[in-house]
Amino acid sequence: MAPRRRSTKFIFVTGGVVSSIGKGISAASIAAIMEARGLKVTLAKLDPYLNVDPGTMNPFQHGEVFVTDDGAETDLDLGHYERFTSATMGRRNSVTSGQIYEAVLGRERRGDYLGGTVQVIPHITDEIKARILAAAEGADLCIIEVGGTVGDIEGLPFLEAIRQMRLELGRDNAMFVHVTYVPYIRTAGELKTKPTQHSVMALRQIGIQPDVLVCRSEKPMPPEVKRKISLFCNVPPEGVVSAMDVPSVYEIPLVFREEGLDQRICDLLGIWAREAALQDWRRITDRLRSAGPEVTIAIVGKYVELRESYKSLNEALLHGGIASGCKVKLHFIEAEDLERSDDGAALLAAADGVLVPGGFGSRGIEGKILAAQCARERRIPYLGICLGLQVAVIEFSRHVCGLARANSTEFDAASPHPVVHMLPEQEGVTDKGGTMRLGAQPCSLEPGSLAARLYGSETASERHRHRFEVNNDYVARLCDKGLRISGVYTGPRAAAAVTPLPDGRAGLVETIEIPDHPFFFGCQFHPEYKSRPRAPHPVFAGFVAAALARRKAQGEQRGAE
Ligand code: GLN
Repeated sequence: MAPRRRSTKFIFVTGGVVSSIGKGISAASIAAIMEARGLKVTLAKLDPYLNVDPGTMNPFQHGEVFVTDDGAETDLDLGHYERFTSATMGRRNSVTSGQIYEAVLGRERRGDYLGGTVQVIPHITDEIKARILAAAEGADLCIIEVGGTVGDIEGLPFLEAIRQMRLELGRDNAMFVHVTYVPYIRTAGELKTKPTQHSVMALRQIGIQPDVLVCRSEKPMPPEVKRKISLFCNVPPEGVVSAMDVPSVYEIPLVFREEGLDQRICDLLGIWAREAALQDWRRITDRLRSAGPEVTIAIVGKYVELRESYKSLNEALLHGGIASGCKVKLHFIEAEDLERSDDGAALLAAADGVLVPGGFGSRGIEGKILAAQCARERRIPYLGICLGLQVAVIEFSRHVCGLARANSTEFDAASPHPVVHMLPEQEGVTDKGGTMRLGAQPCSLEPGSLAARLYGSETASERHRHRFEVNNDYVARLCDKGLRISGVYTGPRAAAAVTPLPDGRAGLVETIEIPDHPFFFGCQFHPEYKSRPRAPHPVFAGFVAAALARRKAQGEQRGAE
């Protein structure tokens, strides 16, 4: 008889007092320390909004949309989950109220509840519980993060569902972690516990007594403050974890370990596991703390005011720095400012590398084209991601191939040279949600190319999120003038391209490069989603290394003058 699998244990993470206190990082760091103890962990995020997924929200509303291998457009916290663990997230790890209501209402219309009244409890809560169990499938420990802040009306069904789950699964199998904020009041010179007390009170009112409080603060928490929180919140002192601000989020697993959180979790859930092996996290922390050369990367985008909208990208660049042993300074440039400036190129001059990230819509597009041109002509390392590849192709078509009004049909439907266009299958799409080219797809890399060298392989699998593609009708002309198509997709969807590639294959352009350039690389996919601090992505490692080489060469030049 096969041994009976241990049942999955659950940690439910809620947040109180204010939003943006690092609930996602806390959940991810708990997962990291428990994985370091040898457990198979997974995570899921429950989002209370009514959108089915965040794919149709703009980044100002929601920050970055994180894309999983299986093509789900999800909350950016799933990015943290992957970066902090070795788990792979998917559709089932991101649950929204929109999905829950869509499923329940779909069943109601089909007549599944015929004769009954459909209610939040039990129908909505049952659906939430079913999805939590599905997300946990196969893991020893599943960490469930509830979005929003305790006290929000829309979060109530989720809190009710996790309250029920604790009752049903028992104390040995489920516990509650509440992440709160302990503000430092300058005039009093004190950390104040009252907001935490109130937030825990609100939780207890709905039947949830937290087992652990993760207390975020900007100052160290003295023992008497810990004691006070323990007493008033009815949480034993061992369960009160101090989480002071640290220079890098990758230090949080070590902070939690230091506070004994992993042992506390093991004690509460009856988990017998080895000591946490955290050497990877120590190494990363040491790297990040140690002084080293610094490179500046100019990011030319549209939502540069809102750093959260490029979360995975910022992290991937930081990881690239870890790989090269240097610091990466991000210089965000509003693409429209480049257009307006008399000498846009001067704005980029200080950079060691230029990056044009993914994006949608025409605002700032000429500024991005200018950035690609400046990087190409001045031989500054360039990385173009998705839209960043597309603008590089437009730029090359206009200024090297002489196709003056070359454009993407996304920005100029009447362009005489639509070098980037929509495939017929996309043109028929009317629903905006979840209909782009999404998720992981394989890519063949040409032997000897920069792409193949970076990956150390002739194949790659990367995540997509776009509607437009390089127009194969122009590929021969681009290649004649020196652009190299180093990566192509030749899977089943490639037939949609209508025109085959010049070599006769049915394929879509995945990566481009300019061989006679220190580093000029564009990819139609988003490598940033797959970079992890413990495994920096080769494209970012290569790009940052090229930027560092330029910085060093310039330093030597200056030294010689
Ligand atoms: N707007 C472009 C497209 O849809 C690029 C998308 C992106 O950069 N993710 O193809």
